[in-house]
Amino acid sequence: MTGQATVAALTSRGHEVVVFDDKPGSVTEVAEQLDVEVLDSTSDEQIKDELREASSVIPSPGMPPHHQLNLLADQAGIPLLSELDLGVYFDDRPLVAITGTNGKTTVTELTTHMLNRSEVRAAAVGNTEVPFISAIDDPAMYELFVVEASSFALQRTQLFRPTSAAWLNLAPDHLDWHGSLDAYALSKSKIWANQQEDDFAIAPHTDEAIEPWVAGVDAQLITFGLNIGDVHCTKSHLVAHGERVIAISDMPLARPHNQLNACAATALALTMDISPHLIAEVLSGFEGLEHRMEPVAEVGGIRFFNDSKATTPHATIAALNGFDKAVLIVGGRNKGLDLSDLIEIAPALVGIVAIGESSSLLVELFDGVVPTVSADSMRDAIRAATQLASASFADVVLSPACASFDWYSNYVERGNDFKKAVHELRTEQELS
Ligand code: ADP
Repeated sequence: MTGQATVAALTSRGHEVVVFDDKPGSVTEVAEQLDVEVLDSTSDEQIKDELREASSVIPSPGMPPHHQLNLLADQAGIPLLSELDLGVYFDDRPLVAITGTNGKTTVTELTTHMLNRSEVRAAAVGNTEVPFISAIDDPAMYELFVVEASSFALQRTQLFRPTSAAWLNLAPDHLDWHGSLDAYALSKSKIWANQQEDDFAIAPHTDEAIEPWVAGVDAQLITFGLNIGDVHCTKSHLVAHGERVIAISDMPLARPHNQLNACAATALALTMDISPHLIAEVLSGFEGLEHRMEPVAEVGGIRFFNDSKATTPHATIAALNGFDKAVLIVGGRNKGLDLSDLIEIAPALVGIVAIGESSSLLVELFDGVVPTVSADSMRDAIRAATQLASASFADVVLSPACASFDWYSNYVERGNDFKKAVHELRTEQELS
């Protein structure tokens, strides 16, 4: 999506564009629509030929840094530009930005709702459905953009300077792409790198992993946390700079990780002069996003939650915080992360159903700690989880801690299949 949007933005501004793809044949149709030539990025010869004429190379966000095209561009001294920088080059409207291992989309959406509620015409862009580079051409005439900034998009930025930028958290993810946790953190830190004294940097209070980067910010620092920070949640209230904004009991999304998300969004919105009562209105009406701890149904006294978007142990651990009796459906394609961290949620669990490629590893991890079974399909998993949950009316949570690509084409398909199977189960029970 970002690649296509980038091509369109460049050609509409009169630039000549050539597209490279490792499988040129797979994008022929799109290339025809965009009226661009597609070349083969597995051919050094074709790359070198084009680089002779090129003024810059704009890699798609997911393209690995060690791709031959990037290496040859470096050797030829051709600058590699990020799509975010390209957007900033073409457009100077203010930016709010959010990065972090988990919670980005939730905070991006919340912040955008807060701005819109205050009649600031803001659009959520970036990792969401709309690439930044295409949003700048939107006729709706947005006043500012709220950018969900992935580590991939941030890695190469040089111009990107948000007025207000939050870094939510850091845990191992995408290490195959970045090479190390340090390199991953360095990419994320770019969100603050170009900020100046009149900008705002929002950071978790006392977070060891992010602390070293906080020390270097030039912007005004605002911290958030649970019970601590400039914007924080106590047991009863969300409090910003000493003032109560909303009672926790008035927030539909009040699990600890979502309290943190609410604090970060509040901190961002306050820096953009949004009034606390409008922030409270948004928080009291925000029911959360699909596939993120989404309540699906209650079947025979058992509640089912779809957290298919949780693709790291960090996300699953956060999502399970606050549960004391859950059956977890977990597993999929491991992204090269240490799944053994998941063991810390064992006290919250009455059972585990392990699925997908990582199931045997997960069975080994939890065996003897909590009742653990493996399942070969989502329907089997739901059946097994229901059995484990039924004795104690536990909740059933799909929070896989892994990518979906072993069984599905993406996390949306996985979440939808889970929901479909839960609804089928409900229909079966109603008929029986
Ligand atoms: P992202 O866009 O960064 O992937 P999302 O808002 O889509 O984040 O949430 C993805 C998953 O991450 C959720 O389903 C939940 O399991 C977990 N999550 C959400 N917010 C947080 C947070 N603040 N800390 C840790 N995990 C979180």
